[in-house]
Amino acid sequence: MASAVMPTYTRAPIVFTHGKGCELFARDGRRYLDFAAGIAVCALGHAHPGLVAALAEQAGRLWHCSNLFEIEGQERLAARLAELSFGDVVFFGNSGAEANECAIKLARRHHAAAGRAERWRILGFEGSFHGRTLATLAAAGNPRNLQNFGPVVPGFEQAPFGDLDAVAARLGPETAAILVEPIQGDGGIRVAPPGFLAGLRALADRAGILLIFDEIQSGIARSGTLFAHAHDGVAPDVMTLAKGLGGGFPVGACVATHHAAAGMTGGSHASTFGGNPLAMAVANAVLDVVAQPAFLARVARAAARLGAGLDRLVAAHPGVFEARRGRGLMAGLRCRADSGEVAGRLRDAGLLVAPAQDRVVRFLPALVVDDAQIDEALAIVDAVARRNADRAA
Ligand SMILES: *Cc1c(COP(=O)(O)O)cnc(C)c1O
Repeated sequence: MASAVMPTYTRAPIVFTHGKGCELFARDGRRYLDFAAGIAVCALGHAHPGLVAALAEQAGRLWHCSNLFEIEGQERLAARLAELSFGDVVFFGNSGAEANECAIKLARRHHAAAGRAERWRILGFEGSFHGRTLATLAAAGNPRNLQNFGPVVPGFEQAPFGDLDAVAARLGPETAAILVEPIQGDGGIRVAPPGFLAGLRALADRAGILLIFDEIQSGIARSGTLFAHAHDGVAPDVMTLAKGLGGGFPVGACVATHHAAAGMTGGSHASTFGGNPLAMAVANAVLDVVAQPAFLARVARAAARLGAGLDRLVAAHPGVFEARRGRGLMAGLRCRADSGEVAGRLRDAGLLVAPAQDRVVRFLPALVVDDAQIDEALAIVDAVARRNADRAA
C-alpha cells in the first residue's frame, strides 16, 4: 500500500524498533552498528539511562506550560551554556533551522536597534547548510534545495568557504553579519582552514558586524571540544546549537552576547514549544555528561583511533577512497563513487553512516562509542571496500 507520509525523503527500507548505545535493532531482528547517530543527534547513543531517567522524571511532573511563564529548566540550561561559552543569553527553539532564524533576526535587530537598519544582509558560504526554512535555505544558497520554491528570500549571499579575500570583497554598508559553520557538515565535513575563523573575526570587527557560528552539527563535543570554534581560539558574537544538544529530543538554541542580542527585547521573538520543560530536562542531562573534561578527553581518544583507522583505509583502498576529512568524531571519507551508494553498501553490511555532499560519507557515532565498536566499523568499511575494489578490477 502506498505510504500516506509525504514523500519528501529517500528512505532506506528499514524499521528500527529499539537501540542501545551505538547499536540499533531492526524489526527483522538485524543488528546495525550506528555511526550516523541520527545525523549527529544521538550524542550519548540510544536509550542512555541518564537521559531516559531525566525525560521520565520530567514527564511525570510537567510537559508544557508555554513561555508565558518562567521555566526553571530554561534558566538553568541558559546559565550553563553561557557559563561554558562566550555567550550571555540564550533563546530556545525546537530545531536547528529555528535557531538560525533567531540568529538572522537577532543580527537585523542588533543593527536596527542601533539606528543602522540599512545593515540587514547576511554573508554565508558555498557548501553550507543552515536548515530548510525559506530564510535558512537562502542563507546557504544551495541551488538543489532552493529549486522550485519560488523567489529566494532576499538579503543573503555566499562566498567561497575559506576565502577571506572574497569575504572582504563582499562586505558592504548593508552587511549585518557573517554566518559560517566552523566545520561544514552536510557540505562534506569541510573543516575551516587554519586562520579562516580568526580572519572572519577580524573582518567582522573592522566592519562593525556580527559573526555567527552555526555549530548545530559541530557543537556539543562532536569535534572533541564542547564547541568546534575552541580549536581556533576564536569566539563569535552568536552561536546556534541543536542536533546533539537534546541527544534525540528536539531542541535548538541561539546563544549570544548581550551586545549582539541588544535588539531582542520583550515581544520581539517567540516559539510556542521552544524550551519546553521536557526538552530542557533532557538537554540539561546531556550537558551533565558532555561538558565533563574526562568525557571530552575520551571523545578525543576515540576520535584519534577512528581517524587513524580511516587514514589506513584511504591508504589501503586508493581506488575507493580519496581522503579523510574532519575533526573529532565528525569524520568523513571522500569517496570515488556517489556517497549515497557507498552508504547503502555499508548499510547492507551492517554499518550506518550519513551521506553528505561532495561524495563524502560521514562517520558521526555517538560520543560514547567504544574502541571495539570503532574497530568493528573500520573492519566493515575495509571489507566493503575490498569487495568493491574486486568488483571494479
Ligand atoms: C542539521 C543542521 C541544520 C538544520 O537543523 P534542523 O534541525 O534540521 O532544522 C542547520 N545547520 C547545520 C550546520 C546542520 O547540520
